[in-house]
Amino acid sequence: MTNQRIALVTGANRGIGKEVARQLARDHGVKVLLGSRNLDKGHRAADEIGYGVEALQLDVSNPDSVAAAFILKIEPSYGRLDILVNNAGVDYDTDQQAHCADLHRVRRAFDTNLFGAWDTIIAATPLLRRGESARIVNVSSGSGALSDMSGGTAGYGVSKAALNALTIKTAAELKHEGILVNAVCPGWVATDMGGGGRPVSEGARGVVWAATLPNNGPTGGFFRDGAPIEW
Ligand code: NAP
Repeated sequence: MTNQRIALVTGANRGIGKEVARQLARDHGVKVLLGSRNLDKGHRAADEIGYGVEALQLDVSNPDSVAAAFILKIEPSYGRLDILVNNAGVDYDTDQQAHCADLHRVRRAFDTNLFGAWDTIIAATPLLRRGESARIVNVSSGSGALSDMSGGTAGYGVSKAALNALTIKTAAELKHEGILVNAVCPGWVATDMGGGGRPVSEGARGVVWAATLPNNGPTGGFFRDGAPIEW
């Protein structure tokens, strides 16, 4: 057991998730569990970051993997969770249009981008209730904003819109328990998925902001760089 705040960041072996893990551990003294579907890659990322970051096997699209991470690892080792960052995401499908989409592919995207986050929230909530100033951050995207939606990125955009809806519902349900739940768009970020854009450290900062909100901070919102954006 530890007095440090405990965070789980999913999909954190590379990209924005890895940088969120680094910033939480280095800048906020948080004990970070670095979720990675490939444990070797997770160990490599955790070793590179240092600051006590610990790798954890976690494929959010596999319910057995989610259950094992919580039942066999997080609960027995820590007994609680303070921060959950649902970062894992796949398939920015700029090559797909909704009216002719490959629904097998869309379902696969939903399995990670929506159901992966949802399953992880369900598994984490009992432990977040035992946490202090618990926070959930769903890493979303402007592609999921209904206020600014056009064609293309069919599976990705619709899955992120659904993740935004999940954010609103969970936030409303957990508000009275002091668990703050927000969606964050990191902006266009230079990762494998982004393929260009601003530095990863800048994209991660807005996620870390939402993960470390004070008790009087917002809940049920959609943010980029700490500022509200339209759903
Ligand atoms: P990335 O570089 O492609 O990294 C994605 C991460 O998610 C990888 O660690 C990947 O693991 C992991 N992942 C994928 N499926 C998973 C699963 N089923 N279970 C666990 N981990 C899984 O992408 P990124 O740019 O860092 O994106 C991070 C988040 O930001 C995503 O939710 C994305 O939609 C969002 N976002 C990104 C941008 C951008 O411009 N980059 C813009 C808006 C929103 P593997 O290494 O095993 O594949």
